[in-house]
Amino acid sequence: MSNNIQSVRGMNDCLPDVSDTWQGFEAIVRDWLRRYGYREIRTPILEHTGLFKRAIGEVTDIVEKEMYTFVDELNGESLTLRPEGTASSVRAVIQHNLLYDGGKRLWYTGPMFRHERPQKGRYRQFHQVGVEALGFVGPDVDAELIVMCADLWKELGIAPALQLNTLGDHAARLRHREKLIAYYASHQDVLDEDARRRLHSNPLRILDSKNPAMQALNDAAPKLMDELEDEALTHFDAVQALLRANDIAFEINPRLVRGLDYYNRTVFEWVTDQLGAQGTVCAGGRYDGLVEQLGGKPAPAAGFAMGIERLLALVEAGGRRIATPAPDAYIVHAGDLAQAFAWQVAGSLRSAGLAAVLHCGGGSFKSQMKKADASHARYAVIIGDDEAAAQQVTLKPLREAGEQTRVEVARAIQFIQEASTQKA
Ligand code: ATP
Ligand code: MG
Repeated sequence: MSNNIQSVRGMNDCLPDVSDTWQGFEAIVRDWLRRYGYREIRTPILEHTGLFKRAIGEVTDIVEKEMYTFVDELNGESLTLRPEGTASSVRAVIQHNLLYDGGKRLWYTGPMFRHERPQKGRYRQFHQVGVEALGFVGPDVDAELIVMCADLWKELGIAPALQLNTLGDHAARLRHREKLIAYYASHQDVLDEDARRRLHSNPLRILDSKNPAMQALNDAAPKLMDELEDEALTHFDAVQALLRANDIAFEINPRLVRGLDYYNRTVFEWVTDQLGAQGTVCAGGRYDGLVEQLGGKPAPAAGFAMGIERLLALVEAGGRRIATPAPDAYIVHAGDLAQAFAWQVAGSLRSAGLAAVLHCGGGSFKSQMKKADASHARYAVIIGDDEAAAQQVTLKPLREAGEQTRVEVARAIQFIQEASTQKA
Protein backbone atom coordinates (compact mmCIF):
# COMPACT_ATOMS: atom_id res chain seq x y z
CA MET A 1 0.00 0.00 0.00
CA SER A 2 2.79 2.42 0.92
CA ASN A 3 3.89 2.33 -2.70
CA ASN A 4 0.55 3.62 -3.92
CA ILE A 5 0.34 7.23 -4.95
CA GLN A 6 -1.77 9.24 -2.51
CA SER A 7 -3.46 12.60 -2.94
CA VAL A 8 -1.37 15.72 -2.31
CA ARG A 9 -1.23 16.72 1.38
CA GLY A 10 -3.99 19.15 2.29
CA MET A 11 -5.99 18.34 -0.84
CA ASN A 12 -9.01 16.12 -0.36
CA ASP A 13 -11.12 13.78 -2.41
CA CYS A 14 -14.84 14.38 -2.20
CA LEU A 15 -16.39 10.89 -2.12
CA PRO A 16 -20.03 10.20 -3.05
CA ASP A 17 -21.43 10.25 0.51
CA VAL A 18 -19.87 13.69 0.94
CA SER A 19 -20.54 14.98 -2.57
CA ASP A 20 -24.24 14.26 -2.01
CA THR A 21 -24.05 16.89 0.73
CA TRP A 22 -22.03 19.27 -1.46
CA GLN A 23 -24.54 18.99 -4.27
CA GLY A 24 -27.39 19.69 -1.86
CA PHE A 25 -25.48 22.72 -0.54
CA GLU A 26 -24.70 23.95 -4.07
CA ALA A 27 -28.36 23.69 -5.06
CA ILE A 28 -29.35 25.81 -2.04
CA VAL A 29 -26.64 28.36 -2.83
CA ARG A 30 -27.50 28.68 -6.53
CA ASP A 31 -31.14 29.26 -5.74
CA TRP A 32 -30.28 31.77 -3.01
CA LEU A 33 -28.05 33.76 -5.39
CA ARG A 34 -30.67 33.66 -8.15
CA ARG A 35 -33.24 35.11 -5.75
CA TYR A 36 -30.89 38.04 -5.03
CA GLY A 37 -30.21 38.67 -8.72
CA TYR A 38 -26.52 37.68 -8.70
CA ARG A 39 -25.09 36.04 -11.84
CA GLU A 40 -22.26 33.56 -12.05
CA ILE A 41 -18.80 34.34 -13.39
CA ARG A 42 -16.35 31.50 -14.15
CA THR A 43 -12.69 32.39 -14.44
CA PRO A 44 -9.61 30.19 -15.00
CA ILE A 45 -7.97 28.52 -12.02
CA LEU A 46 -4.54 29.67 -13.26
CA GLU A 47 -3.67 33.34 -13.54
CA HIS A 48 -0.53 35.39 -14.08
CA THR A 49 1.28 35.67 -10.73
CA GLY A 50 1.40 39.45 -11.08
CA LEU A 51 -2.40 39.64 -10.77
CA PHE A 52 -2.38 38.37 -7.19
CA LYS A 53 0.70 40.37 -6.22
CA ARG A 54 -1.00 43.54 -7.41
CA ALA A 55 -4.48 42.77 -6.08
CA ILE A 56 -3.78 41.13 -2.73
CA GLY A 57 -0.60 43.03 -1.88
CA GLU A 58 3.05 41.94 -1.64
CA VAL A 59 3.16 42.08 2.16
CA THR A 60 0.36 39.64 2.95
CA ASP A 61 0.37 36.05 4.20
CA ILE A 62 -1.08 34.86 0.91
CA VAL A 63 1.48 36.46 -1.39
CA GLU A 64 4.45 36.07 0.94
CA LYS A 65 4.06 32.39 1.73
CA GLU A 66 0.84 30.71 0.63
CA MET A 67 0.75 30.83 -3.17
CA TYR A 68 1.30 27.88 -5.48
CA THR A 69 3.48 29.68 -8.00
CA PHE A 70 5.48 28.01 -10.74
CA VAL A 71 7.13 28.80 -14.03
CA ASP A 72 5.39 27.44 -17.11
CA GLU A 73 8.38 25.70 -18.62
CA LEU A 74 6.97 25.97 -22.10
CA ASN A 75 7.12 29.75 -22.22
CA GLY A 76 8.76 30.95 -19.02
CA GLU A 77 5.65 32.69 -17.63
CA SER A 78 5.13 32.81 -13.87
CA LEU A 79 1.69 31.38 -13.11
CA THR A 80 -0.23 30.92 -9.84
CA LEU A 81 -3.10 28.68 -8.81
CA ARG A 82 -5.72 31.13 -7.62
CA PRO A 83 -5.65 31.59 -3.81
CA GLU A 84 -8.96 33.53 -3.87
CA GLY A 85 -11.59 34.68 -6.33
CA THR A 86 -11.80 38.46 -6.13
CA ALA A 87 -8.65 39.26 -8.12
CA SER A 88 -9.71 37.04 -11.03
CA SER A 89 -13.28 38.39 -11.01
CA VAL A 90 -12.09 41.98 -11.11
CA ARG A 91 -9.53 41.15 -13.80
CA ALA A 92 -12.27 39.60 -15.96
CA VAL A 93 -14.62 42.53 -15.37
CA ILE A 94 -11.95 44.97 -16.54
CA GLN A 95 -10.80 42.80 -19.45
CA HIS A 96 -14.34 42.46 -20.80
CA ASN A 97 -15.49 45.96 -19.85
CA LEU A 98 -18.46 44.53 -17.94
CA LEU A 99 -19.17 47.77 -16.09
CA TYR A 100 -19.79 49.81 -19.26
CA ASP A 101 -23.54 50.01 -18.57
CA GLY A 102 -23.56 50.14 -14.79
CA GLY A 103 -23.10 47.97 -11.72
CA LYS A 104 -22.94 44.21 -11.82
CA ARG A 105 -23.83 41.61 -9.20
CA LEU A 106 -21.59 38.56 -9.66
CA TRP A 107 -20.80 35.31 -7.88
CA TYR A 108 -18.34 32.47 -8.31
CA THR A 109 -17.54 29.15 -6.73
CA GLY A 110 -14.71 26.66 -6.98
CA PRO A 111 -11.41 25.46 -5.56
CA MET A 112 -8.80 27.87 -4.18
CA PHE A 113 -5.19 26.97 -3.36
CA ARG A 114 -3.06 28.11 -0.44
CA HIS A 115 0.09 26.47 0.87
CA GLU A 116 -0.87 26.52 4.55
CA ARG A 117 -0.37 23.98 7.34
CA PRO A 118 -3.24 21.53 6.86
CA GLN A 119 -5.53 21.06 9.87
CA LYS A 120 -9.24 20.81 10.55
CA GLY A 121 -10.92 23.58 8.56
CA ARG A 122 -7.67 24.58 6.83
CA TYR A 123 -6.65 22.88 3.61
CA ARG A 124 -4.33 23.52 0.69
CA GLN A 125 -7.13 23.06 -1.80
CA PHE A 126 -10.36 24.42 -0.34
CA HIS A 127 -13.55 25.78 -1.83
CA GLN A 128 -15.30 29.09 -1.68
CA VAL A 129 -18.54 30.67 -2.76
CA GLY A 130 -17.88 34.36 -3.36
CA VAL A 131 -20.02 37.32 -4.25
CA GLU A 132 -18.88 40.62 -5.79
CA ALA A 133 -21.09 43.69 -6.24
CA LEU A 134 -19.15 45.96 -8.61
CA GLY A 135 -20.01 49.55 -9.42
CA PHE A 136 -22.17 50.29 -6.36
CA VAL A 137 -21.01 52.98 -3.93
CA GLY A 138 -23.10 51.69 -1.03
CA PRO A 139 -23.90 51.68 1.87
CA ASP A 140 -27.08 49.92 0.70
CA VAL A 141 -25.16 47.26 -1.20
CA ASP A 142 -22.84 46.69 1.80
CA ALA A 143 -25.93 45.93 3.87
CA GLU A 144 -27.44 43.78 1.11
CA LEU A 145 -24.33 41.57 1.12
CA ILE A 146 -24.62 41.04 4.85
CA VAL A 147 -28.38 40.54 4.86
CA MET A 148 -28.14 37.95 2.12
CA CYS A 149 -25.56 36.01 4.14
CA ALA A 150 -27.91 36.02 7.12
CA ASP A 151 -30.63 34.67 4.86
CA LEU A 152 -28.43 31.78 3.74
CA TRP A 153 -27.45 30.94 7.33
CA LYS A 154 -31.14 30.67 8.20
CA GLU A 155 -31.70 28.32 5.31
CA LEU A 156 -28.70 26.20 6.32
CA GLY A 157 -29.82 26.14 9.96
CA ILE A 158 -26.64 27.76 11.32
CA ALA A 159 -26.07 30.94 13.30
CA PRO A 160 -22.57 32.41 13.03
CA ALA A 161 -22.07 35.82 14.66
CA LEU A 162 -21.42 38.99 12.68
CA GLN A 163 -18.39 41.17 13.40
CA LEU A 164 -18.24 44.52 11.72
CA ASN A 165 -15.70 47.29 11.32
CA THR A 166 -14.83 50.15 9.04
CA LEU A 167 -11.35 50.79 7.68
CA GLY A 168 -12.18 54.28 6.50
CA ASP A 169 -10.64 55.84 3.42
CA HIS A 170 -7.13 56.30 2.16
CA ALA A 171 -6.15 59.51 3.99
CA ALA A 172 -7.37 58.24 7.35
CA ARG A 173 -5.50 54.99 6.85
CA LEU A 174 -2.31 56.88 6.04
CA ARG A 175 -2.59 58.97 9.22
CA HIS A 176 -3.35 55.83 11.22
CA ARG A 177 -0.42 54.07 9.59
CA GLU A 178 2.01 56.79 10.70
CA LYS A 179 0.70 56.61 14.26
CA LEU A 180 0.95 52.83 14.28
CA ILE A 181 4.55 52.87 13.06
CA ALA A 182 5.48 55.34 15.78
CA TYR A 183 3.65 53.26 18.41
CA TYR A 184 5.15 49.91 17.45
CA ALA A 185 8.59 51.44 16.93
CA SER A 186 8.50 52.59 20.54
CA HIS A 187 7.75 48.97 21.63
CA GLN A 188 10.40 47.22 19.51
CA ASP A 189 11.24 44.78 22.34
CA VAL A 190 7.72 43.24 22.36
CA LEU A 191 7.42 42.81 18.58
CA ASP A 192 7.62 39.31 17.13
CA GLU A 193 9.53 38.56 13.96
CA ASP A 194 6.55 39.04 11.62
CA ALA A 195 5.70 42.35 13.25
CA ARG A 196 9.24 43.65 12.97
CA ARG A 197 9.33 42.78 9.30
CA ARG A 198 5.98 44.47 8.70
CA LEU A 199 6.61 47.53 10.82
CA HIS A 200 7.37 49.78 7.88
CA SER A 201 5.88 47.84 4.97
CA ASN A 202 2.43 47.07 6.40
CA PRO A 203 1.96 47.98 10.07
CA LEU A 204 -1.84 47.54 9.83
CA ARG A 205 -1.24 43.84 9.40
CA ILE A 206 0.47 43.65 12.80
CA LEU A 207 -2.99 44.26 14.28
CA ASP A 208 -4.19 41.11 12.47
CA SER A 209 -1.55 38.98 14.26
CA LYS A 210 -2.69 35.67 15.74
CA ASN A 211 0.26 35.61 18.17
CA PRO A 212 -1.11 35.76 21.78
CA ALA A 213 2.11 37.45 22.93
CA MET A 214 1.20 40.44 20.76
CA GLN A 215 -2.37 40.69 22.09
CA ALA A 216 -1.87 43.26 24.85
CA LEU A 217 0.26 45.49 22.65
CA ASN A 218 -2.33 45.33 19.87
CA ASP A 219 -5.20 46.08 22.26
CA ALA A 220 -3.60 49.36 23.25
CA ALA A 221 -2.56 50.41 19.73
CA PRO A 222 -3.84 53.65 18.16
CA LYS A 223 -7.37 53.17 16.81
CA LEU A 224 -8.24 53.80 13.20
CA MET A 225 -11.72 54.80 14.39
CA ASP A 226 -10.17 57.94 15.88
CA GLU A 227 -8.88 59.01 12.43
CA LEU A 228 -11.99 58.42 10.33
CA GLU A 229 -13.40 61.21 8.16
CA ASP A 230 -17.07 62.19 8.40
CA GLU A 231 -17.90 60.67 5.03
CA ALA A 232 -16.65 57.23 6.03
CA LEU A 233 -18.40 57.48 9.40
CA THR A 234 -21.69 58.43 7.73
CA HIS A 235 -21.31 55.46 5.40
CA PHE A 236 -20.67 53.15 8.35
CA ASP A 237 -23.65 54.56 10.28
CA ALA A 238 -25.90 53.94 7.27
CA VAL A 239 -24.74 50.32 6.98
CA GLN A 240 -25.49 49.79 10.67
CA ALA A 241 -28.92 51.41 10.38
CA LEU A 242 -29.84 49.10 7.50
CA LEU A 243 -28.66 46.08 9.47
CA ARG A 244 -30.76 47.10 12.47
CA ALA A 245 -33.77 47.66 10.21
CA ASN A 246 -33.32 44.11 8.98
CA ASP A 247 -32.91 42.65 12.48
CA ILE A 248 -29.30 41.63 11.94
CA ALA A 249 -27.34 41.53 15.20
CA PHE A 250 -23.68 42.54 15.01
CA GLU A 251 -20.72 43.42 17.13
CA ILE A 252 -18.28 46.15 16.17
CA ASN A 253 -14.74 44.82 16.35
CA PRO A 254 -12.19 47.63 15.88
CA ARG A 255 -9.40 45.07 15.49
CA LEU A 256 -10.99 43.48 12.44
CA VAL A 257 -8.72 44.54 9.57
CA ARG A 258 -8.82 41.50 7.24
CA GLY A 259 -5.75 39.82 5.82
CA LEU A 260 -5.87 41.37 2.37
CA ASP A 261 -4.69 44.83 1.39
CA TYR A 262 -7.54 45.78 -0.86
CA TYR A 263 -10.27 46.51 1.68
CA ASN A 264 -11.56 49.95 2.68
CA ARG A 265 -14.59 51.17 4.63
CA THR A 266 -16.94 48.30 5.58
CA VAL A 267 -15.31 44.99 6.55
CA PHE A 268 -17.08 42.05 8.15
CA GLU A 269 -16.61 38.47 9.25
CA TRP A 270 -19.09 35.78 10.24
CA VAL A 271 -17.53 33.77 13.05
CA THR A 272 -18.40 30.74 15.15
CA ASP A 273 -16.87 29.17 18.26
CA GLN A 274 -18.03 25.69 17.20
CA LEU A 275 -15.14 24.93 14.86
CA GLY A 276 -12.11 25.49 17.09
CA ALA A 277 -9.38 27.77 15.79
CA GLN A 278 -10.76 27.96 12.22
CA GLY A 279 -13.82 29.96 13.25
CA THR A 280 -14.32 32.38 10.36
CA VAL A 281 -16.81 30.93 7.90
CA CYS A 282 -17.29 34.01 5.72
CA ALA A 283 -15.45 37.30 5.28
CA GLY A 284 -15.75 40.34 3.12
CA GLY A 285 -16.16 44.04 2.76
CA ARG A 286 -15.69 47.00 0.48
CA TYR A 287 -12.66 47.42 -1.81
CA ASP A 288 -13.22 50.60 -3.76
CA GLY A 289 -9.62 50.95 -4.93
CA LEU A 290 -9.13 47.54 -6.50
CA VAL A 291 -10.65 48.05 -9.94
CA GLU A 292 -8.40 51.06 -10.55
CA GLN A 293 -5.42 49.31 -8.98
CA LEU A 294 -5.80 46.54 -11.56
CA GLY A 295 -5.93 49.03 -14.41
CA GLY A 296 -9.68 49.59 -14.80
CA LYS A 297 -11.66 52.81 -14.79
CA PRO A 298 -12.21 53.62 -11.09
CA ALA A 299 -15.31 51.83 -9.78
CA PRO A 300 -16.49 51.05 -6.28
CA ALA A 301 -16.83 47.42 -5.23
CA ALA A 302 -17.78 45.17 -2.32
CA GLY A 303 -18.02 41.45 -1.77
CA PHE A 304 -17.44 38.45 0.43
CA ALA A 305 -16.21 34.86 0.28
CA MET A 306 -17.31 31.91 2.37
CA GLY A 307 -15.35 28.72 2.98
CA ILE A 308 -17.51 25.76 1.97
CA GLU A 309 -15.64 23.16 4.08
CA ARG A 310 -16.06 25.27 7.22
CA LEU A 311 -19.70 26.03 6.50
CA LEU A 312 -20.54 22.38 5.98
CA ALA A 313 -18.68 21.47 9.17
CA LEU A 314 -20.82 24.01 10.99
CA VAL A 315 -24.02 22.62 9.47
CA GLU A 316 -22.95 19.14 10.56
CA ALA A 317 -22.06 20.36 14.07
CA GLY A 318 -25.66 21.57 14.33
CA GLY A 319 -26.88 18.08 13.51
CA ARG A 320 -28.55 19.01 10.24
CA ARG A 321 -28.00 16.84 7.17
CA ILE A 322 -28.11 18.36 3.72
CA ALA A 323 -28.66 15.44 1.41
CA THR A 324 -29.24 14.67 -2.20
CA PRO A 325 -32.17 12.27 -2.47
CA ALA A 326 -31.44 8.56 -2.79
CA PRO A 327 -32.66 6.77 -5.94
CA ASP A 328 -36.41 6.29 -6.25
CA ALA A 329 -36.13 2.72 -7.49
CA TYR A 330 -33.70 -0.16 -7.76
CA ILE A 331 -34.71 -2.60 -10.48
CA VAL A 332 -33.96 -6.26 -9.89
CA HIS A 333 -34.54 -8.84 -12.57
CA ALA A 334 -33.84 -12.50 -13.30
CA GLY A 335 -34.34 -14.31 -16.58
CA ASP A 336 -33.71 -13.30 -20.21
CA LEU A 337 -37.23 -12.05 -20.86
CA ALA A 338 -37.12 -10.16 -17.55
CA GLN A 339 -33.82 -8.48 -18.38
CA ALA A 340 -35.07 -7.08 -21.68
CA PHE A 341 -38.22 -5.81 -19.98
CA ALA A 342 -36.21 -4.36 -17.07
CA TRP A 343 -34.30 -2.12 -19.48
CA GLN A 344 -37.61 -0.84 -20.86
CA VAL A 345 -39.01 -0.25 -17.38
CA ALA A 346 -35.85 1.64 -16.33
CA GLY A 347 -36.26 3.87 -19.40
CA SER A 348 -39.91 4.58 -18.58
CA LEU A 349 -39.14 5.47 -14.97
CA ARG A 350 -36.31 7.82 -16.01
CA SER A 351 -38.46 9.47 -18.70
CA ALA A 352 -40.98 10.18 -15.94
CA GLY A 353 -38.22 11.97 -14.02
CA LEU A 354 -37.57 9.24 -11.46
CA ALA A 355 -34.08 8.08 -10.49
CA ALA A 356 -33.86 4.39 -11.34
CA VAL A 357 -30.83 2.16 -10.79
CA LEU A 358 -30.88 -0.91 -13.01
CA HIS A 359 -29.20 -3.92 -11.44
CA CYS A 360 -26.15 -4.99 -13.43
CA GLY A 361 -24.11 -8.15 -13.08
CA GLY A 362 -26.78 -10.79 -12.60
CA GLY A 363 -27.09 -12.97 -9.49
CA SER A 364 -29.99 -14.39 -7.52
CA PHE A 365 -33.05 -12.35 -6.55
CA LYS A 366 -31.87 -12.56 -2.96
CA SER A 367 -28.44 -11.08 -3.65
CA GLN A 368 -29.97 -8.42 -5.89
CA MET A 369 -32.42 -7.44 -3.13
CA LYS A 370 -29.45 -6.92 -0.81
CA LYS A 371 -27.96 -4.50 -3.34
CA ALA A 372 -31.33 -2.77 -3.66
CA ASP A 373 -31.41 -2.25 0.08
CA ALA A 374 -27.82 -1.00 0.20
CA SER A 375 -28.56 1.55 -2.53
CA HIS A 376 -31.00 3.31 -0.14
CA ALA A 377 -33.57 3.31 -2.95
CA ARG A 378 -37.14 3.89 -1.80
CA TYR A 379 -38.58 1.03 -3.85
CA ALA A 380 -37.44 -2.23 -5.33
CA VAL A 381 -38.98 -2.85 -8.72
CA ILE A 382 -38.93 -6.62 -9.10
CA ILE A 383 -39.16 -8.25 -12.51
CA GLY A 384 -39.21 -12.01 -13.16
CA ASP A 385 -40.12 -13.71 -16.41
CA ASP A 386 -43.70 -13.91 -15.06
CA GLU A 387 -43.95 -10.14 -14.66
CA ALA A 388 -42.27 -9.60 -18.00
CA ALA A 389 -44.76 -11.83 -19.79
CA ALA A 390 -47.60 -9.83 -18.21
CA GLN A 391 -45.81 -6.47 -18.81
CA GLN A 392 -46.10 -5.76 -15.09
CA VAL A 393 -43.72 -5.18 -12.18
CA THR A 394 -43.76 -6.04 -8.48
CA LEU A 395 -43.26 -2.93 -6.37
CA LYS A 396 -41.80 -3.35 -2.89
CA PRO A 397 -41.28 -0.44 -0.49
CA LEU A 398 -37.79 -0.60 1.06
CA ARG A 399 -37.77 2.36 3.44
CA GLU A 400 -41.14 1.96 5.09
CA ALA A 401 -43.61 -0.76 5.94
CA GLY A 402 -46.01 -1.81 3.22
CA GLU A 403 -47.07 -4.77 1.15
CA GLN A 404 -45.50 -5.53 -2.17
CA THR A 405 -47.93 -5.18 -5.05
CA ARG A 406 -47.94 -6.29 -8.65
CA VAL A 407 -48.98 -3.49 -11.01
CA GLU A 408 -48.70 -2.14 -14.55
CA VAL A 409 -45.58 0.01 -15.17
CA ALA A 410 -47.61 3.21 -15.54
CA ARG A 411 -49.27 2.53 -12.19
CA ALA A 412 -45.90 1.86 -10.56
CA ILE A 413 -44.59 5.21 -11.80
CA GLN A 414 -47.70 6.99 -10.55
CA PHE A 415 -47.40 5.24 -7.19
CA ILE A 416 -43.75 6.24 -6.68
CA GLN A 417 -44.44 9.81 -7.78
CA GLU A 418 -47.41 10.15 -5.43
CA ALA A 419 -45.43 8.72 -2.55
CA SER A 420 -42.65 11.27 -3.13
CA THR A 421 -45.03 14.27 -3.29
CA GLN A 422 -46.65 13.10 -0.05
CA LYS A 423 -43.20 13.01 1.53
CA ALA A 424 -42.16 16.45 0.26
P1 ATP B 1 -8.02 32.65 8.00
O1 ATP B 1 -7.87 33.83 8.90
O2 ATP B 1 -8.82 31.53 8.61
O3 ATP B 1 -6.72 32.20 7.39
P2 ATP B 1 -8.50 34.25 5.67
O4 ATP B 1 -8.68 35.61 6.20
O5 ATP B 1 -7.18 33.87 5.10
O6 ATP B 1 -8.94 33.15 6.78
P3 ATP B 1 -10.19 34.76 3.39
O7 ATP B 1 -9.07 34.99 2.46
O8 ATP B 1 -10.98 35.90 3.84
O9 ATP B 1 -9.66 33.90 4.62
O10 ATP B 1 -11.17 33.66 2.75
C1 ATP B 1 -12.57 33.61 3.03
C2 ATP B 1 -12.97 32.34 3.71
O11 ATP B 1 -12.41 31.21 3.07
C3 ATP B 1 -12.47 32.20 5.14
O12 ATP B 1 -13.29 32.89 6.02
C4 ATP B 1 -12.55 30.71 5.35
O13 ATP B 1 -13.89 30.32 5.64
C5 ATP B 1 -12.16 30.17 4.01
N1 ATP B 1 -10.75 29.78 4.00
C6 ATP B 1 -9.66 30.57 3.86
N2 ATP B 1 -8.53 29.86 3.85
C7 ATP B 1 -8.90 28.56 3.97
C8 ATP B 1 -8.20 27.30 4.00
N3 ATP B 1 -6.89 27.24 3.88
N4 ATP B 1 -8.92 26.16 4.15
C9 ATP B 1 -10.27 26.20 4.25
N5 ATP B 1 -10.98 27.33 4.22
C10 ATP B 1 -10.32 28.50 4.08
MG1 MG C 1 -5.52 32.81 5.80
